[in-house]
Amino acid sequence: MNQAAAKPRTSKLIKGATGDWEIVVGMEVHAQVTSHAKLFSGAPTGFGGAPNDHVSLVDAAMPGMLPVINGECVAQAVRTGLGLDAEINLRSVFDRKNYFYPDLPQGYQISQYKQPIVGEGTVTVDLADGETVTVGIERLHLEQDAGKSIHDQHATMSFVDLNRSGVALMEIVSKPDIRSADQAKAFLTKLRSILRYLGTCDGDMEKGNLRADVNVSVRRPGEPLGTRCEIKNVNSIRFVGQAIDFEARRQVGLIEDGGTVEQETRLFDPGRGETRSMRSKEEAHDYRYFPDPDLLPLEFDQAYVDQLAAGLPELPDARKERFVGAFGLSPYDADVLVAEKENAEYFEAVAEGRDPKIAANWVINELAGRLNREGREIADSPVSTEQLGAIIDLIGEGTISGKIAKDLFEIVWAEGGDPRVVVDERGMKQVTDTGAIEALVDEIIAANPDKARQVREKPAMLGWFVGQVMKASQGKANPQAVNALLKEKLGV
Ligand code: MN
Repeated sequence: MNQAAAKPRTSKLIKGATGDWEIVVGMEVHAQVTSHAKLFSGAPTGFGGAPNDHVSLVDAAMPGMLPVINGECVAQAVRTGLGLDAEINLRSVFDRKNYFYPDLPQGYQISQYKQPIVGEGTVTVDLADGETVTVGIERLHLEQDAGKSIHDQHATMSFVDLNRSGVALMEIVSKPDIRSADQAKAFLTKLRSILRYLGTCDGDMEKGNLRADVNVSVRRPGEPLGTRCEIKNVNSIRFVGQAIDFEARRQVGLIEDGGTVEQETRLFDPGRGETRSMRSKEEAHDYRYFPDPDLLPLEFDQAYVDQLAAGLPELPDARKERFVGAFGLSPYDADVLVAEKENAEYFEAVAEGRDPKIAANWVINELAGRLNREGREIADSPVSTEQLGAIIDLIGEGTISGKIAKDLFEIVWAEGGDPRVVVDERGMKQVTDTGAIEALVDEIIAANPDKARQVREKPAMLGWFVGQVMKASQGKANPQAVNALLKEKLGV
């Protein structure tokens, strides 16, 4: 465990009836490897499809079938390890993890136990309050997913769908370096972001392509680790936070009432916002792990790793640094933009040849705000990077005011079109012609002689005049010109 994470942070402690408690969280994240074929068979991995449509004889564990490792899944695991700044093991071993489940036809899962493909690494997590936490990665191993039992199709029978059986998963295990629900959510968000940048897992939690087992324990600050409970298969980042908060409170209540925490596996019930006991926790030796005799140890050389490293894309941390360093964005704005690769790319396209801060402002406040309200992704934004860029250019050239630009954005959002043409056709151009503005200024002053007298004692009233002139011009008058003319004519 790294030093910073080992030190209790007083602000993260929770209050019990008998004093403060520290929450300790570690996570095991199952991430589905992005690959067209399964880990040991050529069957497709696409989501959906009729039950048992994506199943080879290997996935169904027919007698005599032999697994063959999928090279792309190995490459994806190595890329992920590199993205987590982790040690890559040039030799790893596949083991059988034995247990019975109706949707596990082999009677064992092929996984990696003592010698995983990826060793220790780190994830740097920036929190909204400005705190930075380094979460250690213990390991990453490759393993098979199981099938799915379906219990809601028939009154007395259950069905088994093996479409997922044999799909490659990366199990990413963190160290117990997380100290609050917020840190856990931020860690999972960051991990998901890294995987999506790498293209090694699509991070789609609704489809179950990324799910977290959350290990929670509590202790008095400075004391050894307490007994943990594992909350299985939490499939949303929000639920991870709720499950930790509930579970920590439950454990504190239990211990303060004189009880002890039993090591067990629990389920999170999102409807009730609570965790429930599922089964007492099994130990590794219960699974009778042994090296799979059908598979040779997995070996590759450093040149293979180097070649994959050379092909890695820019990751969120590096991109954030560039947005702050080269573009002068605030760390907060940079964080918001880099969290999703698509947002970062959209922003960069708009910022190209323009003021990056103005571009960031429009992407974060106008565009992302609008997309959020409508529950849409930037990939299907009705306003393209070219259109948003043109709107920003029109402001920069003084053709339209910032206020009109927002109206223009709305029109382009709803109706599309070239912003320049829209401005022409709808007469949205800013009036910089001093003569035209002067006429409006004279008109407003003449109509309000009392206020025109008062403004000399109360210069703050100038704002009222500016507002009236802008309104009379339907927002098209150049605000600087209006201000200057009013000051001159009112003598303030
Ligand atoms: Mn696993």
